[in-house]
Amino acid sequence: MFKKILIANRGEIACRIIKTARKMGIQTVAVFSEADAKAQHVLLADEACCIGPAPANESYLLIDKIIDAALKFGAQAIHPGYGFLSENEVFATRCLQAGIVFIGPSAESIKMMGSKSQAKALMQKAGVSLTPGYHGVDQSPALLAKEAAKIGFPVLIKASAGGGGKGIRRVDKAEDFDSALVSCQREAKNAFGDEQVLVEKYITQPRHIEVQVFGDSFGNFVYLFERDCSVQRRHQKVIEEAPAPGISQQTRARLGEAAVAAAKSVNYLGAGTVEFIFSPEGEFYFMEMNTRLQVEHPVTEMITGLDLVEWQLRIASHEPIPLNQESLTIKGHAIEARIYAEDPQTGFLPSIGPLLHLQVPGESANVRIDTGVIQGDVVSPYYDPMIAKLIVWGEDRESAIAQMHHSLSEFHVVGVANNIRFIDQIIKTKSFANAALSTNLIEYEENNLFDKATEPQAEFLMLGAVYEWYNLPSIRGPGALQRGWRLNSNAQVLFTFKGKGWMKSICLFLGDNGVPTGFKIIGQEKTLVISNWELGHNRVSVDYEGNRFMAHVVANQNARYLGNEVGRWTYSVISLSDQLQIKEVHSGELRAPMPGKVVVVNVINGQSVKKGEVLMVMEAMKMEHSIIAPMDGVIKSCLCKVGDQIAESADLIAFQ
Ligand code: ADP
Repeated sequence: MFKKILIANRGEIACRIIKTARKMGIQTVAVFSEADAKAQHVLLADEACCIGPAPANESYLLIDKIIDAALKFGAQAIHPGYGFLSENEVFATRCLQAGIVFIGPSAESIKMMGSKSQAKALMQKAGVSLTPGYHGVDQSPALLAKEAAKIGFPVLIKASAGGGGKGIRRVDKAEDFDSALVSCQREAKNAFGDEQVLVEKYITQPRHIEVQVFGDSFGNFVYLFERDCSVQRRHQKVIEEAPAPGISQQTRARLGEAAVAAAKSVNYLGAGTVEFIFSPEGEFYFMEMNTRLQVEHPVTEMITGLDLVEWQLRIASHEPIPLNQESLTIKGHAIEARIYAEDPQTGFLPSIGPLLHLQVPGESANVRIDTGVIQGDVVSPYYDPMIAKLIVWGEDRESAIAQMHHSLSEFHVVGVANNIRFIDQIIKTKSFANAALSTNLIEYEENNLFDKATEPQAEFLMLGAVYEWYNLPSIRGPGALQRGWRLNSNAQVLFTFKGKGWMKSICLFLGDNGVPTGFKIIGQEKTLVISNWELGHNRVSVDYEGNRFMAHVVANQNARYLGNEVGRWTYSVISLSDQLQIKEVHSGELRAPMPGKVVVVNVINGQSVKKGEVLMVMEAMKMEHSIIAPMDGVIKSCLCKVGDQIAESADLIAFQ
């Protein structure tokens, strides 16, 4: 076994690999960019080496720097994690040349599976069934359009070199094909440096089911069953589970064998994942093979009781696969949710900023948190905005869902927008609960997912008010209630809270001893009775009208966060003088939702546009985001041009 390995990655996956290495008595070397000098993976590793500035192409993607670091620190092997250089055949070759073991398959296998087009050609030979489509080398737009028509709309255009859901366009009708192709090629060129695309039949309401496989240097292959990763947004997974619900033993074995056949056809070594698309009729087709550890590998670990990183390390150091197919079994059900710094309300735009407050659920045999950040860290525009993975286990799917719901209610993030509430809403939908899974689940359940409530329920306002009351030193305790409030049974105190799109005032009635006895929301008739209250660290709890309400609370100057399993609200507390000054301001500017680069400008000064028209396209985090006309209007002036680097909230277009 290796004595020392280098981890060519960052964030949660680097931390996760270090944990297994430590368990096995292996020393670890972390690499980091200047932005990550104080990151968790750096603190956790035995040694660490700075490899350059924040942008990944000046640090985490620099093969020379990483190999130099491995040689300098005496690492015998490199674990690439996922993303970055994990599927880069040049990197695998360079490791080999430097006498360092690449913990993964051979450069040859990576290359063969690296291009979706080539992989499809290879699988065709190996007898694995494929989605109908075109994956040839001739890339002339006219030919691609003709092939698309032959396949029949809707089709998907996919970047051959693509991954992570980037470079995929769905096209529903022939007249949209050309513009989708141009946009897909542009994104592919930008993100992967390669314009080649393939076109395939769009399977309606499919499931995404993938199989974990392992191969060793003795020619043994096994599959560690399947994961269902159908719940996706923007073709990116958000919730994954194992085993896939409703899959018979027979189908499971067929899937496993097809995956092993795919792995064998490229002499696969180490951990890999073969992805299939499942039609509603139960047919499955090969999509692609990922030649690395997957983000969602923990659900497989939870149901098999195995440590996949340990297997990777053993196989890379020429040990055989630890178990044969017959000894592998599934126990219970596991679900993973990816907690992202992103805003479901604005099309899942990544949210950048400091993690002012981060509370994760307690870990146990049934609850696991994989994360690479702590409170105070910053979600930067340079890397993936994932905050953590929450993985839960239950005897069956229903108890795993219940456990997920409970753990989400204990998960609180303040400072950046996040998808915690959204995930909770997904697992509560009928479709998810009944395991009616498909990659369209989020679209299909749209009405049950995106918060429509514009203002918080009465109990949130009341919890917020009790918290404010408790933190007003002049109100509480002996000698309190100065500052003009009346010290008698009718004493009352008024608070006004302002959130996004709402402003509410609430009056708290105080008893003889100055503690809350009831409340009334201004504008509503009813006065409600408070019988008990308690405040703890980040916690407020109140009994009113016979029920107990609790919330996690975080205060930052006059900004507040209140959250529990019912909802999560952020708002500010308005002082009396501010209340008098609040006026609705109508801004005529369209602002950048995040920092990025302008790649397309579709409008000129004075042009009339219709609501919903794409005015501009920005690229950020290697993905394109359209700036849309919010209503019919006229472009007063365009404030930026193609190529401009834009700061968050910068004005893009003056709109009338
Ligand atoms: P990536 O490598 O970027 O993850 P994939 O080829 O794995 O790209 O596809 C990502 C997702 O897009 C899949 O999980 C699935 O939801 C959807 N998808 C891919 N191919 C098809 C198809 N032919 N029909 C319908 N949906 C598809």
